[in-house]
Amino acid sequence: LKARTIAVLGSREVGKSSLITQFVGNRFVESYQPSVETTFRKVIRYKGHEVEAEIIDTAGQVEHSILSFTHVVGIHGYILVYSVTSKQSFEMVKIIRNKILNYSGRESVPIVLVGNKMDLHHQRQLTFEEGKNLASHWQCAWTEASAKNNDNIIRIFKLMINEMEKD
Ligand code: GDP
Ligand code: MG
Repeated sequence: LKARTIAVLGSREVGKSSLITQFVGNRFVESYQPSVETTFRKVIRYKGHEVEAEIIDTAGQVEHSILSFTHVVGIHGYILVYSVTSKQSFEMVKIIRNKILNYSGRESVPIVLVGNKMDLHHQRQLTFEEGKNLASHWQCAWTEASAKNNDNIIRIFKLMINEMEKD
């Protein structure tokens, strides 16, 4: 059983905690908003790979917390989350990725880009194509998802395993 540490990063309120609790606990908790960093563990089986995933739910001001090396050292993969309802959150994932690359001194790291809240059709500020194009520019995996409706949540983690296996 391989141990892999995955950090989930993104602006506040994009749904990081929601997508993790949906994945780990199969539930959507409207009011669950931990303000401290929390770690979850789950065994993920995918394409013959069996991975003991340690999933770090980051919290607080990501632009400050990502300034810490603790989010680069010992991390095998990154789930970068924006909300399709927030252009600002889309700009933030770009900033976060730059910081990760700077700190790790690498040209690329395993990343899954996630456009969450795809259920909020009427509040969309970002198109499907904008997400897809950024991911192809970064050569990383990407999906839209809804933590609320449990759409594509398992897919996020399968993509993550895939990206880490390629690394
Ligand atoms: P975090 O700060 O990134 O951890 O975000 P949270 O998981 O705490 O979610 C922030 C808010 O967005 C909460 O009110 C959630 O209920 C809501 N939320 C999270 N994911 C979704 C989603 O996929 N769809 C909708 N409609 N709301 C969501
Ligand atoms: Mg949270």
